[in-house]
Amino acid sequence: MFDLSGKVAFITGGSRGIGRAACEALASRGAHVLIGYGSSEAQAAECAQGIAAAGGKAECVQLDVSDAQAAENTIAQAAKTAGRLDILVASAGISVDGLLLRLKDDDFDRILAVNLKGAVASARGALKPMMRARAGRVIFLSSVVGEAGNAGQTAYAASKAALLGVTKSLAKEYAGRGITVNAITPGYIETDMTESLTEEQKAAMHSAIPLKRAGTVNDVAAAVVYLASDEASYVTGHALRVNGGMYV
Ligand code: NAD
Repeated sequence: MFDLSGKVAFITGGSRGIGRAACEALASRGAHVLIGYGSSEAQAAECAQGIAAAGGKAECVQLDVSDAQAAENTIAQAAKTAGRLDILVASAGISVDGLLLRLKDDDFDRILAVNLKGAVASARGALKPMMRARAGRVIFLSSVVGEAGNAGQTAYAASKAALLGVTKSLAKEYAGRGITVNAITPGYIETDMTESLTEEQKAAMHSAIPLKRAGTVNDVAAAVVYLASDEASYVTGHALRVNGGMYV
């Protein structure tokens, strides 16, 4: 089960956090992994070295998803160079928190440019080779916040809720081409993105989660592997909750 030998996967935001765990998990199942990184070249190289040391295959590809045209072109070119593209994991994301009345327009635009337009541009780049192959897996990293909302995260929630609409629309648009499109909606996952929370905030988060712990990047990576696998071939347009019961 979940054998990805011979498949090529592109992961945006692959140098750290959930994206990195997804790279490692996909590679451990046999996928040739293209690690998309924005600016953290050293971290991406470290991830590639770890995968190679474990007997896997990985390369690093620089791309800034907020430059939509460049992101689309880079992914399409990477697919051409690798000879195919079977799996896209759009994990690149940012969060700028703040009450709406204090949130700057520029920050709102930046969040949408990375989280929404960047993910859509990445899908555009991946869909072309997938359509030619009449097969593919597109996996978006949305969030529990896109489903439930969260005070202080209006822009982030808007970007992540919009991705769910994108997921459902693309699922319908490309089902006839053998491509599935799904989202994962992680809850509170301990990564660099959540490092800024105080210990009190973290403890309050844990107690509000029915499973009484934060999620790990590996919890999310396991969902990525499932959705990327042949075993998930009849699952499309779905938002898979990996949230410890935080939102049901
Ligand atoms: P992270 O901050 O650890 O990693 C995000 C990655 O995106 C980084 O590698 C960063 O370099 C990259 N990135 C940011 N802007 C970019 C750009 N313009 N171009 C290319 N790459 C860019 O975050 P994470 O916690 O691993 O989150 C991964 C995804 O999962 C994000 O989309 C996030 O919104 C989502 N998510 C995270 C959590 C959580 O609790 N950590 C919960 C729900 C959803």
